[in-house]
Amino acid sequence: MKYDLVIIGGGPIGLNSAIEAKKAGLSYIVLEKGVLVNSLYNFPTNMTFFSTSNLLEIGDVPFIAHGDKPTRRESLEYFRRVQESWDLQVSLYTEVLNMLPDTDGYRIDTTKGAFHGKNVVIATGFYDTPRMLEIPGENLPKVKHYYDDPHPYVDQKVVVIGAANSACDVALETFYKGAEVTMVIRESEIYPKVKYWIRPNIENRIKAGEIKAYFNSTVQEINEQEVTISTPEGEVTIPNDFVLSMTGYKPNYTLFEKLGLHISDDGHKTPIHNDSTLETPLKGVYVAGVINAGLQTSKLFIENTRQHSETIINSILSSK
Ligand code: FAD
Repeated sequence: MKYDLVIIGGGPIGLNSAIEAKKAGLSYIVLEKGVLVNSLYNFPTNMTFFSTSNLLEIGDVPFIAHGDKPTRRESLEYFRRVQESWDLQVSLYTEVLNMLPDTDGYRIDTTKGAFHGKNVVIATGFYDTPRMLEIPGENLPKVKHYYDDPHPYVDQKVVVIGAANSACDVALETFYKGAEVTMVIRESEIYPKVKYWIRPNIENRIKAGEIKAYFNSTVQEINEQEVTISTPEGEVTIPNDFVLSMTGYKPNYTLFEKLGLHISDDGHKTPIHNDSTLETPLKGVYVAGVINAGLQTSKLFIENTRQHSETIINSILSSK
């Protein structure tokens, strides 16, 4: 199983890299640990993208959605059609566990055996590792770092932590299904870049007292029945059934560590790479997609990383 290019991650940018490799006549394989576009599949069931569908398009395949913003379900069908129409070689349920320099490239060990790539693209995104709160009680089963559907929270006392898109979506959706929602927000306001059609709604629910919000506040401790919050007025303990911690995600750098690849120490923790080729200091190893922004997860998204794939393939072709 020797390829000119092994692409790790079957998200939108991994797939786009496969399309560019195919166009250039390179042999390639995409290794995806879960389902096709696994991150998107694990987004909340009723999620609507903030991007319009044309900005999510890859490989010249039109993305026709019912509204101006596509839904998660529409995106799954879209990327399935992309894979089908380009007949992309994707090995699903194939988790990359390790990667080692080898003669003429890299050996990539996976749950389905070893692959060999002269070049490697790491496009593993940031959705696999939640940012933890590091507080007592965070590991209780009632504390969720991923949100799926509102139904489990009907008639429940729910604390939503955070004030960005996911937190606001979750607070509203569970509130409309009858949960008693309390938001705990570290800042003094709802994140200003929250989707323009969501922000006024959440602010009005808070103003009306339908959703309780503690601003400039943090959760201190969680136990089976209660949550303790540090507020500007002092500590408050409230009864609680579930905590939905929507505090964001960060890239998993295990593979980078195994390869001895460095991560920036400027606080953003970006994988070190050449900005014009996207090559890391290891020859033939590239980084593509949202992982390139490290902890600044709202800086890169699909529309401004689609071009990574073309940049990388051009670099591979020019170094042949
Ligand atoms: P991902 O889509 O995350 O793909 C990475 C893939 O790598 C995953 O499928 C993962 O399973 C796989 N992987 C990870 N580790 C391994 C391994 N060791 N072995 C094999 N496979 C592995 N962006 C937008 O442009 N517009 C939006 O509207 C938008 N909405 C968002 C809403 C939410 C709730 C979230 C969390 C993010 C949103 N984003 C949006 C950001 C979005 O996640 C990214 O833009 C997009 O998924 C990035 O594509 P990617 O291919 O770089 O990474």
